[in-house]
Amino acid sequence: MKPRLLNAWSSVKKGPEGTPASVIYLESTAVPHSTHVKGPMRVGAGDYLTRITLAGVGLTMAEDEILAADGLLRRFDVRRGPYPETATLEIHTEFETGASVSLTQGMPHLISITLSRKPLLELMSGRRIAVDPGHGGKDLGVRGPVNLLEKDCTLAIGRELADIIRSCGGVPLLTRDDDSYLEPGLRLREVSLSSPALAVEIHMSGEKDPLARSYHIRSIPGCPRSKALADSISAALRENMGISFGPVEELPDQGFPVPGYPLVRVEPVCLTYFADEANFRAPLLRRRLAQGIMNGITRYLRENENPGGTLP
Ligand SMILES: [Zn+2]
Repeated sequence: MKPRLLNAWSSVKKGPEGTPASVIYLESTAVPHSTHVKGPMRVGAGDYLTRITLAGVGLTMAEDEILAADGLLRRFDVRRGPYPETATLEIHTEFETGASVSLTQGMPHLISITLSRKPLLELMSGRRIAVDPGHGGKDLGVRGPVNLLEKDCTLAIGRELADIIRSCGGVPLLTRDDDSYLEPGLRLREVSLSSPALAVEIHMSGEKDPLARSYHIRSIPGCPRSKALADSISAALRENMGISFGPVEELPDQGFPVPGYPLVRVEPVCLTYFADEANFRAPLLRRRLAQGIMNGITRYLRENENPGGTLP
């Protein structure tokens, strides 16, 4: 059998010493003669590139750009070359982090590339993030064609997002974690007492025409930080889920004072559209939506703060 890479994928695992790590797995029919790691090097958009050359293995799988978007690992590209019987892996990470390569022999062999998630954990450590799952109790919100209710969908995404924030060392502040009804003008009052770094309101959009689809993202009028956060979440959800938001819209006056932290309202699902309602029942989709929102949050924090700095 020719020495070949067969397959590649990634996942988040507990690494050595219990620190979470993003791990890229490559299935190979042969052990590489040599492995050369170059990087991480700073590239555009604040990302880092690590290039790993595996000598002595070609590709059976097609050359590919594989999206991970797990908060640390943005994507990795598997390519042929630069020499015959050589494969190159280009790893794009959102933080500067080293890569360690290990091999588990078997049939096929498994090459693991472990990337420590420590820089992401350091950014998020102790960071309070307010999450407001829209509606609740007697306030049902939009109703889908097969009777899924907005208040339940927003809570499902809110819980996933809280879980991801916690797994990165942050502190989620949920306005509700059950079917409670919250007075519209008072929703953020309690979480505001804990001075969150930022807040995300989760809603679903709805249309009168059941065949129409719309997705919205809104920020506080005249607040550049709120707009920057909205732009970041919008871009991350487009990357993760292919959702096309229009330009950032203005949040309506919600009857409470403008908070001293950036606030965004995101509507990443059109609940009145049958396919969106059906897809939403899959737990994996909810998790990916929440991960997309989280990636927007961490990119915003990474780009709008000094390392180690605190928000005003
Ligand atoms: Zn709503």
